[in-house]
Amino acid sequence: MDYAGRGGWIEVVSGVMFSGKSEELLRRIRRATLARHQVQVFKSHLDERYGGLQTVSTHSGARIESEPVSSSVEVMERLRPGTSVVGIDEVQFLDHGIVDVANALADGGVRVIAAGTDMDFRGEPFGPMGALLAVAERIDKLQAICVKCGQLATRNQRLIDGRPAPAEGPTIQVGGLESYEARCRACHEVPSLGRAQISLLEG
Ligand code: ADP
Ligand code: ZN
Repeated sequence: MDYAGRGGWIEVVSGVMFSGKSEELLRRIRRATLARHQVQVFKSHLDERYGGLQTVSTHSGARIESEPVSSSVEVMERLRPGTSVVGIDEVQFLDHGIVDVANALADGGVRVIAAGTDMDFRGEPFGPMGALLAVAERIDKLQAICVKCGQLATRNQRLIDGRPAPAEGPTIQVGGLESYEARCRACHEVPSLGRAQISLLEG
C-alpha cells in the first residue's frame, strides 16, 4: 500500500543486501508512473553492479532508468520542475546532506522514496541511514534469507577470498575484491585483526 499522506513525505526501504529493496523501489516507482506522477530516480555513482550506472537493477534482473549522483547536492541540482516523486537507490553511499535534501524535498511537496542498506558489513549504521530512518514518515525493513541457516537475514557478510572480512577494513571498498552474502545475526562473523596485522594493513 502506498503511503497516503498530503503533500510531501519520506519513505525509506531499508534492510540487508538481497532483501528486495530495489525490487520494492521499482514497484513503487512503477505505480507512481502509472498514477501519472513525474518521477526522477537517482542512484549513488558508487553502485556499479549489474546494469551499470544508468539503471536501478535488482538481483533478479528487473531494471529502470536512473541518474547517477555523487553527492546529495547533485540531487537538488538535477531536480526538474514538476517532479513530484523522487526515488533514490543505494542511499547509504551518499553524504549526510541527503537527510536535509530529503526533508527539503518533502517540505516542498515531493514524495521521496529512498532505498538503502541500513548496516555496514560490521553491523553498524551505514552512513546517513540512521538519520534518514529517524526523519522518515514511513519505514519498511526487509529481510533476506540467511545463506548459512535459512533464517531471516539482517546482516551483510563481507567475504574476502571466501572468508569473513576483518572489522578494520574500509566501510566502502570501491573496486575491492570482496563479495557479500546475507546472514542472520547468529551467523554474521566480523573477526578483529591482531595488532601486527593492523600495522600491516596500514602499511
Ligand atoms: P536489494 O536491493 O535489497 O539488494 P534486490 O531487489 O536487488 O535486493 O534483489 C532481491 C532478490 O535477490 C530476491 O528476490 C532474490 O531473487 C534474490 N536473492 C539472492 N540471494 C538471496 C538471499 N540470500 N535471500 C533472499 N533473496 C535473495
Ligand atoms: Zn543464519
